[in-house]
Amino acid sequence: MGIEGVDLVLGTQDRMKMLEWIEQVKVERRPQNAVHEIWEAEEFEELPQLSEEHRARALLKIQEGCNQFCTYCIIPYARGPLRSRLPENALAEARRLVEAGHPEIVLTGIHTGYYGQDLKEEWNLARLVRELVKIPGLSRLRLSSIEPMEYTSELIESIVSSDKVCPHLHMPLQSGSDRILTRMNRPYTLNQYRDLLERLRQQIPNLAVTTDIIAGFPGETEEDHASTLEFVKSCGFSGINVFPYSKRKGTPAADYSDQVSKQLKEQRVKDLLLVARVSQEEFVGHFIGKPVEILIEWIDPQGYAIGHTPHYIQVQIPASEDGKTWTSRRFVTVVLEEGMVGRA
Ligand code: SF4
Repeated sequence: MGIEGVDLVLGTQDRMKMLEWIEQVKVERRPQNAVHEIWEAEEFEELPQLSEEHRARALLKIQEGCNQFCTYCIIPYARGPLRSRLPENALAEARRLVEAGHPEIVLTGIHTGYYGQDLKEEWNLARLVRELVKIPGLSRLRLSSIEPMEYTSELIESIVSSDKVCPHLHMPLQSGSDRILTRMNRPYTLNQYRDLLERLRQQIPNLAVTTDIIAGFPGETEEDHASTLEFVKSCGFSGINVFPYSKRKGTPAADYSDQVSKQLKEQRVKDLLLVARVSQEEFVGHFIGKPVEILIEWIDPQGYAIGHTPHYIQVQIPASEDGKTWTSRRFVTVVLEEGMVGRA
């Protein structure tokens, strides 16, 4: 290893062994390179989540890595293959987080929908959800990003059958053009995505669906962009994260010759953000004048208590009012007014 002043280089998969490595450097008094081939990683590396006293929602990581290789994404190269956390460890940590006072748990990972595929015993995300909702004291379970093709009937059933599972799903779309989806190596078509949305909405009324879109992927024409705008409008998303395409060295798309200019990408991001705002307002509009439950997450310096509803609408209310004071981790039910809604 030859970086002046650097004694130890460590990969993310060895974070838990950091102290041992530091000791080794101290003893051997020579620089160490502890990085090894990420695709050799076979097991989920346990790194317990610290309970933060002020937080209401706790993140529970259940999975690492991805085998999909979308052509724009560096994650499979940087984080290695899919590895699932052992269910007994995931469940034990969930219990610990609930005992530490977190009423809501958010399941996180890179490819959470494929949870369990690499485990010897037969586990999948649906089974893990069914076990998690049994934990006494857990009020809300929120699923983070799940790829469209990973919603099995069993998974949908596990979401529908417990009122602890939030009616909010994040389903990355990335483009509203089938041609671009193929170039991205995304394994679904717009028709399949639309059908899935319909199926989910039939089973979960008022479902909130958020998504991610990449603007200006290489080769994206005006027609592709117009198709994305139309498709996105038709989906009724409750929130959209818009990213301008950005080259990731070592990925196939970074070498595509038909890159879109920076100026055009910026314009397309603006177009999409406009659609995103209208879409979010329409979704929130369904809840105005109705009672919603907020889990207070923090109190801002202006004296507002801020939290989210199960549908992931951010709401702010005065932290002290009518002799009542709201603190973090408390559930409050309010009749939603326009002025209470935070904008993403
Ligand atoms: S975008 Fe998601 S599914 Fe595609 S390679 Fe990256 S992590 Fe995997």
